[in-house]
Amino acid sequence: MNHAEGPLLTVDVGERETRTESIDDVLESFVGGRGVGTKLAHDRVPFDADPLGPDNGLFFTTGPMQMSNMSFTGRMNVTGVSPLTGGLLSSNAGGFMSRHFADTGYSAVEIAGESDDLLVVHVTDEGVEFEAVPGLEGATVPETCEYVEDEHGLESEHVACIGPAGENQVRFASVMTTEERAFGRGGLGAVLGAKNVKAVTFEGDSRPDVEIPAGQMDVHREAATTDHIMKEQGTVAVMDLANEMDGLPSYYFSEQSFEGAAGINGSAVAEKKYKKGTCSACAFACKLPTRDEERGVETEGPEFETAMAFGSNAGIDDIVDVMQSNERCDRYGLDTISAGNTVSAYLASEDAFGDEELILDLVEKIAHREGVGDLLAEGIDRAHEELGVENWTVKGMDFAAHEGRVLHGQGLSYAVANRGADHMYATFYSVEYPLVGKDEAMEPTGLEGKPDRLVERENLMALNDSGVVCKFSRDFMNPDRYEMLFDADFEDLLEVGDRVVELERHFNNQRSIARDADRLPYDLPGFEEALDEYYEVRGWNEDGTVPDANISGGSGAVSADD
Ligand code: SF4
Repeated sequence: MNHAEGPLLTVDVGERETRTESIDDVLESFVGGRGVGTKLAHDRVPFDADPLGPDNGLFFTTGPMQMSNMSFTGRMNVTGVSPLTGGLLSSNAGGFMSRHFADTGYSAVEIAGESDDLLVVHVTDEGVEFEAVPGLEGATVPETCEYVEDEHGLESEHVACIGPAGENQVRFASVMTTEERAFGRGGLGAVLGAKNVKAVTFEGDSRPDVEIPAGQMDVHREAATTDHIMKEQGTVAVMDLANEMDGLPSYYFSEQSFEGAAGINGSAVAEKKYKKGTCSACAFACKLPTRDEERGVETEGPEFETAMAFGSNAGIDDIVDVMQSNERCDRYGLDTISAGNTVSAYLASEDAFGDEELILDLVEKIAHREGVGDLLAEGIDRAHEELGVENWTVKGMDFAAHEGRVLHGQGLSYAVANRGADHMYATFYSVEYPLVGKDEAMEPTGLEGKPDRLVERENLMALNDSGVVCKFSRDFMNPDRYEMLFDADFEDLLEVGDRVVELERHFNNQRSIARDADRLPYDLPGFEEALDEYYEVRGWNEDGTVPDANISGGSGAVSADD
């Protein structure tokens, strides 16, 4: 089986020490990316670690596909304990950093400990440099990238950094790369901030040699020649369909359709798009560099989730307003989904939907923890009571746009996902939207037959995150292609995904996250039965815990059944 190559580099920023070690057994069992990050975090981070304390670790990882020339591989992974959910969580970002990371020759880089001084950590194939940067305190993401370029000649695609939000330990702060790409969900930017690390840079000339079969070019060619709607409109392309299905969260989830959708939909974004946007090696190029000259706004996006969180959910019907919120979140290093949803919760509490000036002010206040921003920086789960609004979260993670009240399998996925109400964990929505020409679509209503399919989707997405293969490759990948790329049986590859999901669950179980946390703020018909079935398919206990027999503590081997 193809897997990432190279040792693990541990960087202790408290002791200013580094060490390298072989993790070949982990690479063979977990491939790379999220799989390797999860296994390392599971075995190295104490189960009771404070997400914002020195014991938490942050694991940067790539997979074997970053050694390919194939589209859909311009992404990489970060894993750690989330300050938002309290569970083990991986976050995935595109851009151009994955190749520079691979050039260092390491398969994984662990940032451990806690520094007294604000640092930039430079990781190269020749060693690690610790640079104290007191002058960068409070710097925005563009300011930080500019500093690294001016002082070290490294463009932003070499840089993973945080903005003020990460420094101020906002629980949904992002780790940013290439200025506008975010390891967004779950607040891993706050983990970097708690370690007093402003940025990590990656550079080198030691990319490991992984042979990816020539068949990769078939995928690449198809990505280049397709006229897929996402090339024009990105993920926002789905907004009109969602709205027609009564599946577009609006006015802080109190409504499910938005009368102003035409102002923030795929066509509205496409009108503002001024050039192609992509990630390294990717000819699919679904990103959205957008600009509005009249108001002087330039950003990348918004994606569908952001257009929901800062658009319909906030009562905003002008795409330029959403672009402005998007730009500000990127600048300060905030997850646009959680920031938008949290701002929308505040708007609900004040009956102030549609007030763009207030929205921008709130983003600013959250990033700096000023005034009410200090409360909102804690996220909806911790702030909703004081705000007097409903708690639209699962495991502390606020909801993505794909509406589980309409797409019931997606609802079940939100409930059980180890990282909470996040759409990318299983992308189950993609099998429930009634899209023309899709062979394997399921009826959105009802849960019958879905737990089984959900397990398969979760395992496949965990494999993608371990590979690392972008999930938007879905129309171009099939079991044969996975087998060709990874040089392994498809069933064995799904087993890798299964091990990853199970290890996340096991870690979270030790932190008292189990069936009681697999909950939705709304009812779905047949939910409890579907939950039972889901656990059964996974081989877990009916209280949502992983049986001890499935886990063996050491590195590599995880399950007696595996
Ligand atoms: S499909 Fe889009 S998000 Fe995925 S790697 Fe390509 S450009 Fe990046």
